[in-house]
Amino acid sequence: MQARKCRRPTESAKGGGARSELDRVLPFNNVKKVGLPIAIAATAAVFLLARLVSWSDPDPRPGGEYGGAAVKKTDEEWRCFLTPEQFEVMRKGGTERPFTGAYWSTKEPGEYLCAGCGAVLFKSDAKFESHTGWPSFWAACGDSVVERVDRSHGMVRREILCGKCGGHLGHVFDDGPKPTGQRYCVNSAALKFLPRAKNAVAPVGQSDDDGSVDGPKN
Ligand code: FE
Repeated sequence: MQARKCRRPTESAKGGGARSELDRVLPFNNVKKVGLPIAIAATAAVFLLARLVSWSDPDPRPGGEYGGAAVKKTDEEWRCFLTPEQFEVMRKGGTERPFTGAYWSTKEPGEYLCAGCGAVLFKSDAKFESHTGWPSFWAACGDSVVERVDRSHGMVRREILCGKCGGHLGHVFDDGPKPTGQRYCVNSAALKFLPRAKNAVAPVGQSDDDGSVDGPKN
């Protein structure tokens, strides 16, 4: 008598045939088993990448075309007008190395003009020694300086720009001295210093010993 072969239960017999067929037809069915961790990781990666792109915005200053800026030039025009260092700082949001700029230790009275358009941005009266290596002021002149959020380099900072030409100046922080408590940290490359004696408007009949007119004392 021939022995009956003992056949292993088929997938159909175990009820798995339908499931295997479903896995083949519907790939997402497998996600539950092996793809879910990958899907979660991929979603997280996409989210993190989006945040990193936002944080590392290579140029949050779109060509220096600050909205509302009265003075607008193309990058090529700015390159003709500014030195390479000024262009890098003012139009590309660069930062000069501390203690290297022209004005970080300047104490002479006068006004600091925008190197891009000549607008009066800061006065020596509001300049203070911050020991940071950059010219620092506790106030800007009127509304000559505007702010916007800068999320570059993984930080959230208050960027300051010339309100007239949109040139990047630096950043402002809340750790400044009285009376404002603000610290406008500015790149020397974005400034042009105008000593008071050469910028003065003398009251009628008054002049300096060297013949230059003398202006009002702050
Ligand atoms: Fe300007």
